[in-house]
Amino acid sequence: MTVLTEKITALKRQIRTLEERYDRPRDSVRLLAVSKKQAPEKIRRAAAAGIKDFGENYFQEALEKIEGLSDLALSWHFIGPIQSNKTRGIAEHFDWVQSVDREKIARRLSAQRSDTMPPLNVCVQVNLSAEASKSGLDLQCAATLCARIAQLPNLSLRGLMAIPAPLSNLQAQREGFRRLAKEYQKLRQHYPSMDTLSMGMSNDYAAAIAEGSTLIRIGTTLFGPRSTSA
Ligand SMILES: *Cc1c(COP(=O)(O)O)cnc(C)c1O
Repeated sequence: MTVLTEKITALKRQIRTLEERYDRPRDSVRLLAVSKKQAPEKIRRAAAAGIKDFGENYFQEALEKIEGLSDLALSWHFIGPIQSNKTRGIAEHFDWVQSVDREKIARRLSAQRSDTMPPLNVCVQVNLSAEASKSGLDLQCAATLCARIAQLPNLSLRGLMAIPAPLSNLQAQREGFRRLAKEYQKLRQHYPSMDTLSMGMSNDYAAAIAEGSTLIRIGTTLFGPRSTSA
């Protein structure tokens, strides 16, 4: 077994342990491997070990990987900040976009998604710690953006995503995630297509699973440190 394969196995076991600890149904937490600034060869090896979902933050870097790995049946998630001039490429090449935080971006993605493709799966990115990040919209604005997205023909509203400020204390991490989970449960009553609560990264996925995350986004724990040149 390669080191990567061992890390994947260990992480999956850890997810299962946390599902049991926090009374979550088995297999209710999906694993998204965040492969930004990691070599395509690592993605290939992770795919061979059974990972299907990969997350990328930088369009140009992602496009090269998507094209170079097109022989594999993978699901690609765009999880980085979105510039208007990249929406066409994102709409054409990705299966998911988790970082939608403006109506203008949502409209462009829907208009630029080909009618021959399945709808683009979308999560609204919420900013849980306003001082720490420029991306994401305030929690109290999420409902309005969800209502707009639900009306766009080539998008499928799947859920909410957040990247909280890094905290080392489990209870403090859980508080932020709990606020997001509450809003998610509220919105789900209105939008049956919502099934994804994307929260939890390498340093806080245990807290996220405790609070109901259905998708954790893991980079460094699986792939090690990212290269500085993208
Ligand atoms: C980079 C990134 C991750 C992965 O972070 P790690 O700490 O390496 O696990 C997850 N989500 C988003 C949106 C990211 O940009």
